[in-house]
Amino acid sequence: MSAACRRFHARELSELVMCVSAEPCAMCAGATFFAGVRAVVFGLFADSLADLWAVENPNPHVLDMSCRQVFEMSATHPITVLGPTMEEEAGVPHLGYVIPDK
Ligand SMILES: [Zn+2]
Repeated sequence: MSAACRRFHARELSELVMCVSAEPCAMCAGATFFAGVRAVVFGLFADSLADLWAVENPNPHVLDMSCRQVFEMSATHPITVLGPTMEEEAGVPHLGYVIPDK
C-alpha cells in the first residue's frame, strides 16, 4: 500500500481494484481505507490463512475481524469487497511461505 500511495494519486487509487491472495487484516484494511482504495478482491478468508499458519504455529497471532467489518465502519466511503475467490490457488503462495522446504 505504501508503494501504491507513492506511485498513484488519491483519485487514481479510488479507481483501482486491490487484488490480494488473502483477506486484508484489520490493519491493512484500515490502510486500504485511508489510502482511498474503494474495491478489494481477495482469495482466502483471513481465517483460512490462519488455518494454514496453524500448521507451523498452533496459536497464530490474529485479530478476529474481517475486512468487511472494518470497511463497514465508514458510512460515507464504501468499499466493494469480493471474496473469497479461487481459495485453493490463493493458498499456494502462503503454503510455500509457511512451510518452507527442509
Ligand atoms: Zn495485514
